[in-house]
Amino acid sequence: MKKIIIASNWKMNTNITKTESLCNSIKVIINSNNFEDVDVLIAPPFTNIYSAYSILKDTKVRVGAQNCNDNQSGAFTGEVSAEMIADVGCKFVIVGHSERRVIYNESSDTISKKLKQVLTNNLTAVYCIGETLQEKQSGLTNIVLANQINSEMNGILPNDLKKVIIAYEPVWAIGTGLTPTLLEINQTHSFIKNHLISIYSKEALTVPVLYGGSFNEKNGKEILFLPEVNGALIGGASIKEESIIEILKFSSEIEA
Ligand code: PEP
Repeated sequence: MKKIIIASNWKMNTNITKTESLCNSIKVIINSNNFEDVDVLIAPPFTNIYSAYSILKDTKVRVGAQNCNDNQSGAFTGEVSAEMIADVGCKFVIVGHSERRVIYNESSDTISKKLKQVLTNNLTAVYCIGETLQEKQSGLTNIVLANQINSEMNGILPNDLKKVIIAYEPVWAIGTGLTPTLLEINQTHSFIKNHLISIYSKEALTVPVLYGGSFNEKNGKEILFLPEVNGALIGGASIKEESIIEILKFSSEIEA
């Protein structure tokens, strides 16, 4: 069986009631199907993390955060540190999401610092990279991805790679209903893996590369079958109960 990671990014959606309902449904499906080869990650908003953690703590589902501050601690009103995220039971943090890059002007330097905070606090980083539509149309996809990796992973040691998951998320595919072709996804994942190997050598072989961007219960199965795809990071479809249940079901059946 192929190892699959299904990661949910709930963004600024859900409340405690919805969190409990989604987590209980996920718990039921995890217990009733064979999930040995599927890792399930969910990133609720900060305010719902503890509710999710309380329901899922005895399961294989890992709860995580959608963001953290780039400092260890201190006078940063309104911010949450990686250390606090670990303390509440989280196992991972999403870093470099395009909504943070674009809406909150997060620079590569900030993303790089956040990655280091996550790894230093013994959490896994779900590190998002991706090109804009304009960059894609100009044929720059691989160059953009390589530049993001080169600057943002600078200083991350081969030994840290065990705690890194890359999510390839074309910015133009997020929340739009658009996706690259299957061939494009496979080729881009292959490029990312080869680029990591060129930097880190064999240590990079363990880094999973997820696809993200309008992944859903209809298009997801064939994406997961692609040889270079190790799973998915899912936004919109991850908070629709029927959609995420369907996605989890077919993820547990991928034999490729
Ligand atoms: C995301 O925000 O990481 C994402 C992939 O969103 P969506 O699935 O809604 O495109």
